[in-house]
Amino acid sequence: MLTLDEAQSIVLSNVSALPAEPAGLVDALGRVLTTPVTAQVPLPPFDNSAMDGYAVVAEDTRGATPGSPRLLQIIDDIAAGVVPERTVAPGTAAQIMTGAMMPPGADAVVIVEHTRPGAPGAVEVFVPVKPGDNVRPAGEDIERGQEALSPGQVMGPGELALAAALGYVTVDVVRRPRVAIVTTGSELVEPGRELRTGAIYNSNQTLLSCRVLAAGAAVGERLHVEDDERAVEDALARCAEADMILTTGGVSVGEYDFVKAALERLGEMKFWQVRIKPGKPVAFGTVNGRPLFGLPGNPVSAMVTFELLVAPALRKMSGRTQCLPPTVQATLASGVSHKPGRREYRQAVTRSEGRGYVTDPSPKRGSAMLTSTVGANSLVVIPEESEGLKSGEQGTVIYPANGM
Ligand code: AMP
Ligand code: MG
Repeated sequence: MLTLDEAQSIVLSNVSALPAEPAGLVDALGRVLTTPVTAQVPLPPFDNSAMDGYAVVAEDTRGATPGSPRLLQIIDDIAAGVVPERTVAPGTAAQIMTGAMMPPGADAVVIVEHTRPGAPGAVEVFVPVKPGDNVRPAGEDIERGQEALSPGQVMGPGELALAAALGYVTVDVVRRPRVAIVTTGSELVEPGRELRTGAIYNSNQTLLSCRVLAAGAAVGERLHVEDDERAVEDALARCAEADMILTTGGVSVGEYDFVKAALERLGEMKFWQVRIKPGKPVAFGTVNGRPLFGLPGNPVSAMVTFELLVAPALRKMSGRTQCLPPTVQATLASGVSHKPGRREYRQAVTRSEGRGYVTDPSPKRGSAMLTSTVGANSLVVIPEESEGLKSGEQGTVIYPANGM
C-alpha cells in the first residue's frame, strides 16, 4: 500500500496549473497572477500633502515657537483633487488638505495643530518645518514603468488594491478550478426530505462544496447517485465540464462499491488505497486527463483525504507553488492513543501560545463522528509506529487545515 508521500507525489505529477484568464479585481482574490502588473502612473502621481495644514516655504518657519510664532498671509485653500494655481511665495501659506496637490513654491506642510489663526487672512505657525516635511513626493511608492506585481504573486487585498491604484480594471490570473461533486450511496437522503428507516442524511455534499469554496475553487455539478454502476458512470459523464471530479463513497472493498469500477473502466486508476487513518480507501485517477478523487464515504475520512490529497491538487491547479499542507510543531494539550500501523490524522484545535503552538486533539477517532470536527482547525499527525502521543509532548500538526 502506498505511503501518503508517494500518493501525494502521484497526485501532484498528474495535475498542472490551469490556463489564465482576465478577471475583475475582486474576482481575482486569492488567485495567482500570470502577467506582470506595471506602474502605468507613478504612485503617488504628484507631490501632495500627507496632512491637513498649511503649505509653506520651510525657510519661513525657522525658529518658530509658541512664544515667537511666524505670521504668514493665507493666499489659497487647496482641496484634494484641485490643481493649485497660486504660487506660495516667502511670507505666504496655502491652506491644504490631505492628498491635495502641493502648490508651486511650497516645499513643506505645517500640520494644522502647529498653527493658530493670526491677523485676519493670516496664520501663525509656532513649530518649524524642514523642506519635505509632511509632503509625499511623486513616485515615492512606485515610479512609472516599474513592475509592481510579478507573475506567481498570490493576489490578496493589498495586491489587488495596488492594481486598482495603478488604474487596472482586470488582471490576468489562473482560472479557478471548477470541481464537480458526486456523492454515492443508496442509504443517503437529502436534508429536508423524510428520513426513512435505515437511511442517513447526505452530509458529504455540504462538506465538500464548502471545502472546495474555502480552497478558492468553484463548485460545478452537484450530483447524488444510488449504488448502481450505470448511475455512477452516467453521473461521471455529466461532469464533462469539470476540471476535477470528487466522489464520495463506493471506494472500499464492499460489494456495492462502484466508483472504483467506474474509474477503472472510464479512465485510468492511479491508486485506490493509502496507508493513512482515516482515509485508507481513497481512489485517484484520471478521466479524459482530468483528475478524479474517489473519497471515502465516512465524512471525517472524506475531510482528511481532502486536506491531504485534494487540497494540494487544487493548489497546483490554481498556480500555487507551495502545494503540500503546511505544518507546525505544537505541544499537545492532551494525549492521544494509537495502534501502530497506519499514520493517523486526528481533528484538533490548534492555537498559538507564547512563541509556539498548542494543539488539543479530539478524543473522538470515529471516522463517521462529525462532532469531532467542531471548532477543529488542524490535524494532529500520529506517526505510523507510535503508541500514541502524551500530553505535553511535541507533535506535528497540519495547520491551518482549512483554506489555502
Ligand atoms: P462507503 O465508502 O460508501 O462504504 O461509505 C462508508 C460510510 O460512509 C457509510 O457508513 C456510509 O453510509 C457513509 N456515507 C457515505 N456517503 C455519505 C454521505 N454523502 N454523507 C454521509 N455519510 C456518508
Ligand atoms: Mg456507499
